[in-house]
Amino acid sequence: MMQKPILTIVVPCYNEEDVLPETIQQLTHVLENLLEEDLIAIGSKILFVDDGSLDRTWALIEEESQRNPFVTGIKLSRNFGHQNALLAGLETAKNNSDCVISIDADLQDDISVIREFVLKYWEGYDIVYGVRRSRDTDTWFKKATAQWFYRFMQKLGVQLVYNHADFRLMSKRALEELSRYTEINIFLRGIVPLLGFRSTKVFYDRKKRFAGESKYPLKKMLAFAFDGITSFSIVPIRLITFIGFLAFLLSSAAGIYSLAVKLLGHAESGWTSIMISVWLIGGLLLMGMGLIGEYIGKIYQEVKRRPRFTIEKTLHSPSFSPSSKKEKVQL
Ligand code: UDP
Ligand code: MG
Repeated sequence: MMQKPILTIVVPCYNEEDVLPETIQQLTHVLENLLEEDLIAIGSKILFVDDGSLDRTWALIEEESQRNPFVTGIKLSRNFGHQNALLAGLETAKNNSDCVISIDADLQDDISVIREFVLKYWEGYDIVYGVRRSRDTDTWFKKATAQWFYRFMQKLGVQLVYNHADFRLMSKRALEELSRYTEINIFLRGIVPLLGFRSTKVFYDRKKRFAGESKYPLKKMLAFAFDGITSFSIVPIRLITFIGFLAFLLSSAAGIYSLAVKLLGHAESGWTSIMISVWLIGGLLLMGMGLIGEYIGKIYQEVKRRPRFTIEKTLHSPSFSPSSKKEKVQL
């Protein structure tokens, strides 16, 4: 018989004061039910990661942690972005948990499937992906761009779980493996499938954000997609090389053509084609250089080995204290 796991739910929060009270209440309820059903062990928690919010998010977390034994939190020293906030949470939770579930603060993901995640863990799965069944509540625009993104990534050879965001369960050993991926440009959705282990999917319907605004405006979404592509795939570089090769073939054909024209004594007539090829090749070169620059930029960031996040404060709850490894304090 397997031992009951300590579960930590990691919730990255950036300016989420509007949704937080409700989120805390609902997630607390989930943990209470799971405890009652004997599916998780005492010491299970909700770990909120304040990603440098400018509003009362941290104050709310701190206040709640005083009266709610399930709530604990860490505060990052500034806004590090969703992926890094998530990572900070996973790394912190890992040491004191047997399994960790990550979920967004806005509860767009259906929390009732958390129970199914845990059941899958009991069945021996190390990674459980939450997968959206439909995207009816997303705007047309969000739906279209997301779909395009998944297809494009697939073409580039990046294995993503279709319609899966960062709502998933990971076991302790999966998280331990994850922490060995030390890259700065981390794209968790792409990395988790690379870990291997037994994994499965749980389907759910995605809801509307019930309060607050999306923290992913178009600009951030594009940056996210671009990062996802260039941190995973060298296909764009290969594509440029291929186009360059085609351009070379074309230009040698053009060379032969212009020579022939010259030999026939109508040299000026070649002006148009030369103009065109100068522009074409100039454009290709610039494009290629820009793209290579992008990757060099990535290399530059990676070789610096800068920390991916900085934790400014940690709330002291019994099971998150450094000494807890030996003596697990009861709630
Ligand atoms: N988030 C974060 N740091 C950021 C941006 C967002 O921690 O810089 C959190 C945010 O609080 C939420 C989650 O990441 O819990 C997903 O953000 P959001 O719901 O705005 O994204 P969407 O669902 O629109 O893709
Ligand atoms: Mg959301």
